[in-house]
Amino acid sequence: MKIRDILAAGNPTLSFEVFPPKTVDAYEPVERAACEIAKLKPAFMSVTYGAGGGTSRYTVDIADTIKGYGVTPLAHLTCVSSTREKVHQVLDELKSRGIENVLALRGDLPADGETPREYRYASQLIREIKESGDFCIGAACYPEGHVESANKSVDMDYLKEKVEAGCDFVTTQMFFDNSILYSYLYRIREKGITVPVIAGIMPVTNAKQISRITGMSGTYLPARFKAIVDRFGDNPAAMKQAGIAYATDQIIDLIANGVNGIHVYSMNKPDVAARIRENLSEIL
Ligand code: FAD
Repeated sequence: MKIRDILAAGNPTLSFEVFPPKTVDAYEPVERAACEIAKLKPAFMSVTYGAGGGTSRYTVDIADTIKGYGVTPLAHLTCVSSTREKVHQVLDELKSRGIENVLALRGDLPADGETPREYRYASQLIREIKESGDFCIGAACYPEGHVESANKSVDMDYLKEKVEAGCDFVTTQMFFDNSILYSYLYRIREKGITVPVIAGIMPVTNAKQISRITGMSGTYLPARFKAIVDRFGDNPAAMKQAGIAYATDQIIDLIANGVNGIHVYSMNKPDVAARIRENLSEIL
């Protein structure tokens, strides 16, 4: 099923993200985690794509496994470190497995400073996917602005370019303050971007995640969130419980305010996904 059709039904949706293994030895545990999460019957599940594309097979295989559970898969695909040939090879593979949804991304720039080869921006990839078959295409968006952007307004202009290139929905980078999303939604709608926006929610279940999150994306951490980490960061069980509660609270507020698409970065943790699902059992 295409995600745009799931979203068009207008009901709140809960979906989860998993990431593929880096090595073949890690394949089985990741597959098992993905299956456990699929059993929760989310609206769809996304599978991320390793930056260099070296593990692209695992993305497709895990997406295919998810499909076997009757759950709609969304395969991520990055382009900046890839070639046109490789991109089309992955798209052909997705087509042959009946995977209809692709999240089209640029990917992070290579750390070695190497200049991009055939693709510079996600919009180029979106155009190509659009021409390559009947895919439902998603893209990333950044309520706090992308780290490389000069300012949020320019970033939104480029988001519009991605939508005009053919993307059907966008999923946000994680955020911990819902008011940031509400004002972002207002501003992108004013710019004429009308595709569904799926809110990306990260349950922070251990203190180590925090430095990675802020280091990578510069995400704003509200005082209420910092207090939780300060108080419970050294107690893994308490941090997990508090992190799940914080994410649940964010989701309830989003749904109450009309944000229907909720995507949980479940980090291959079926127990976290299950607890969030359970916390929302009367809501979704
Ligand atoms: P783009 O939309 O191309 O934007 C990149 C930068 O270029 C932005 O600053 C933008 O403002 C600017 N820009 C865009 N178009 C133009 C233009 N025409 N001229 C000048 N500037 C322009 N990474 C992975 O490796 N694998 C994944 O599976 C993955 N999944 C993700 C899922 C989500 C929901 C999100 C939010 C991010 C994900 N990422 C993933 C990270 C992503 O690859 C990085 O954030 C990357 O740096 C930007 O990708 P993009 O597709 O948003 O790029």
